[in-house]
Amino acid sequence: MSALDCCVASGDVLVGVDEARTKLLNAATTVADIEHVPLSTALGRVLAEDVISPLDVPGHDNSAMDGYAIRSVDSAEDGCSLPISQRIAAGHPGGELAPGSAARIFTGAPMPAGADAVVMQEDCLVDGENVRITRQVSAGQNVRPRANDIASGDCVLLAGAKLIPQSVGLLASLGVAEVPVRRPVRVALLNTGDEIVEPGEPLRQGQIYNSNRYTLMAALQCVGCEIIDLGQVEDTFQATRAALLHAAPQADLILSSGGVSVGEEDYIKNAVETEGEIDLWRVRMKPGKPLAFGRVRDTPFIGLPGNPVSAFVTFCLFGMPFLRAMQGRNETFPHPIGAHLMRGVDKPLKRCEFIRVRLDHSAKGLPVAQAFPRQGSDVLASTVWASGLLEIPDGVSLKAGSTLNYWSFESLLS
Ligand code: AMP
Ligand code: MG
Repeated sequence: MSALDCCVASGDVLVGVDEARTKLLNAATTVADIEHVPLSTALGRVLAEDVISPLDVPGHDNSAMDGYAIRSVDSAEDGCSLPISQRIAAGHPGGELAPGSAARIFTGAPMPAGADAVVMQEDCLVDGENVRITRQVSAGQNVRPRANDIASGDCVLLAGAKLIPQSVGLLASLGVAEVPVRRPVRVALLNTGDEIVEPGEPLRQGQIYNSNRYTLMAALQCVGCEIIDLGQVEDTFQATRAALLHAAPQADLILSSGGVSVGEEDYIKNAVETEGEIDLWRVRMKPGKPLAFGRVRDTPFIGLPGNPVSAFVTFCLFGMPFLRAMQGRNETFPHPIGAHLMRGVDKPLKRCEFIRVRLDHSAKGLPVAQAFPRQGSDVLASTVWASGLLEIPDGVSLKAGSTLNYWSFESLLS
């Protein structure tokens, strides 16, 4: 029995946040299937292979300006006058530039052989068939050399990169029409709780609307997962077990919310243990202590807590890294940035806390984190007001102004 099994078995000792994340990441396997998708639908997908440039971009020396291409040796300190020997527009390459002449040229047009500089038109006076260049120019001026952006053979994107608009554009600039990407991770989503009602339905005494289902569906969409929405599960052991067994063969991951703590109406843990294994349960953090990780048959399982803030925060801190690892992403968890704590913490916390904060950038130096006034795990409004999470470590007292780790929701959900 490992130390961790011991903790789980005793039910009292909680696993630290970093340790829990490491455990999840170590258990994650990358989806093996690769698809080839056209660039127009590649946004947000994860590259399955490195991309090596097949060509130089640009493929030829070209003008960075509208002006006149010349041989720099033909210019002089007190100016010079050159006959205009040709006109070169973008997409229409010209011929070799005769010595002692100038070519009218436009931005992006290929440099004619022999020319080594472009004089911007603002520095030129056209006089009939000639152009007067008012200043001396040096070789290379206003010329974009071949391969200025990318050279043939360069590795431009690494396997595991999530495609963003810039990388899609970069691939297009290489002439790449289709990219190899991982197939989306299939996530079976289920919610527990007999008190939960779908938006659009009337709300009876004691009922609340289902928010977790929508938070999690939206978050899963943010990371390009395919959602198998299995809806609501009745709070009974049999229904929970049946729902898990239904989910397992269809999904790469089963994600649930609620029913994961120790109450008599919490059936997740027992049902998972009956049909698989729980490897981790209860993390030393707030919000979100009850977090289960294991598998149902051979399908990984993550059981998030029911409280809406806890479900969201634990999804950000554990669900997202696990999904990124399944997607084959090369970064599974974002780097935090430093932010100052506004008020001190006199009494060391028993569990590390992830509080919802906004950053105030008005002072010099690191931003100051301002906490939402109500930090309860039921206060979903805090997650909309805040821009991210500040980690208050456990076991230490902290002075006001201490530097702590902050993650924006944007980084946690990308
Ligand atoms: P549980 O973990 O099932 O004990 O749920 C903890 C709290 O979260 C309870 O107040 C539930 O009503 C609430 N809760 C559970 N599931 C949801 C959900 N899908 N949407 C909103 N609140 C929920
Ligand atoms: Mg419940």
